[in-house]
Amino acid sequence: MDQPLINRRQALGLLGATGAVTALGSLGVPMTARAAGAGHVVVVGGGFGGATAAKFLKRFNPAVEVTLVEASEHFYTCPFSNWYLGGLREMAYIRHGYDELKDRYGVHVVHATAEDVDGDRHEVRLSTGERVRYDKLVLSPGIDFDWDGLDGYDEAAAEKAPHAWKAGEQTRLLRSQLEAMDDGGLFILRAPDNPFRCPPGPYERVSLIAHYFKEHKPRSKILLLDAKDNFSKQPLFMDGWEQVYGDMIEWVGASQDGNVISVDADNLTVETEFGSRHQADVLNIVPPQQAGFIAHRAGVADDSGWVPVKPQTFESTQVDDIYVVGDATIAAPMPKSGFCANAQAKVVASAIVSEFAGHEPPPAIWNNTCYSLIAPGYGISVAGVYKVIDGQIAEVPGSGGVSPRDTDEAFRAREAEYAVNWYEAMSEDTWGTRFRG
Ligand SMILES: Cc1cc2nc3c(=O)[nH]c(=O)nc-3n(C[C@H](O)[C@H](O)[C@H](O)COP(=O)(O)OP(=O)(O)OC[C@H]3O[C@@H](n4cnc5c(N)ncnc54)[C@H](O)[C@@H]3O)c2cc1C
Repeated sequence: MDQPLINRRQALGLLGATGAVTALGSLGVPMTARAAGAGHVVVVGGGFGGATAAKFLKRFNPAVEVTLVEASEHFYTCPFSNWYLGGLREMAYIRHGYDELKDRYGVHVVHATAEDVDGDRHEVRLSTGERVRYDKLVLSPGIDFDWDGLDGYDEAAAEKAPHAWKAGEQTRLLRSQLEAMDDGGLFILRAPDNPFRCPPGPYERVSLIAHYFKEHKPRSKILLLDAKDNFSKQPLFMDGWEQVYGDMIEWVGASQDGNVISVDADNLTVETEFGSRHQADVLNIVPPQQAGFIAHRAGVADDSGWVPVKPQTFESTQVDDIYVVGDATIAAPMPKSGFCANAQAKVVASAIVSEFAGHEPPPAIWNNTCYSLIAPGYGISVAGVYKVIDGQIAEVPGSGGVSPRDTDEAFRAREAEYAVNWYEAMSEDTWGTRFRG
């Protein structure tokens, strides 16, 4: 099914941005007289990794043609979605559009789903039926859920027991359930085993829902059932919970029978590995995860469900000229965070621009800081610096670490402020957008 690649108007719009048009080929393929050292890069996914890659490719070399394929007109960030759930932000705060990437950076943005990739022909097939050719392809599709990974939990169940692990409608649904819950109700969150998107995310979530309960439904309780025995920033979270929320939050690790093995969404009930049953008033299931489906279609994911990459460039180890960034990758010890996706995307943009120009890519280095809010004015963080050591991604010895356990209120308040500054700077760095109220 050879569909036109992109239509003539789009092609002229795309190529007009670089002034590099000549003609359309027989399949509607744009034949470009590219500036020396440039090429056409297709980026799939306009979240933290993809939007950053598209923007920085244009910043590093404006002659590179960049087409960003993103399914949605707006992107809702998971970062700060917990703040929304806790009543500390509006949805508008976490919504970002693509106008800046188009108008200020000359990225050609196509709102469609990339349905398939033909790595031999260097083509991406879109939900519109169009095929887009690339010299280099960057995939940043984020996660998809493994709907077979947890008994009883599928897309229909998520309408009753939301995951809210991709932000947007699911986040709104969870918030409306929390608002409708009676004071004295039980909120249960099921946290998944590693690896998963945002290691501190479930623990920040219960913190901010506890904040909401404390303000509006103080007799309510939170039960956090965990498929593992340890979690990110654990001592800091547990100190904070006790200090701010008393006994409102109960965390149960896997060896204490916290591992949920089946879900009955109709009755808001879960069953654990050792046979306990728990009934919730609001049930939040964070399911097992894997790389977004397009990574599987492109043949870059392995049996783990995630994507192995060459450490220095994040090019796929399986298919040439495909680069993968963000949550979809196997990049441990880097966590699956928006900050890492953004940092990886810059390294990929630099590697591609260097390759077009016939240079070696500069040595890669990545930073990450994940802030979590325990309560308004009470922030904590974990940070790390990563580079390639002996052919593997590794944390630079002595870099990073977590917030101190014994510190004063002013320190926690500063970290809460840094969290907001981080979010706003990161949004601007990624989409060129800043919330103006
Ligand atoms: C509750 C929560 C809190 C978090 N807080 C933080 C935080 O404070 N700090 C932090 O750094 N990280 C945080 N994260 C993690 C962060 O959200 C992810 O790590 C980040 O979004 C990963 O970026 P990505 O580009 O890989 O994927 P995403 O940002 O999810 O972007 C993927 C995009 O690709 C699009 N897409 C997917 N497939 C296709 C396709 N086939 N065709 C077209 N488009 C497609 C999707 O529509 C989406 O827009 C949090 C996560 C959660 C769940």
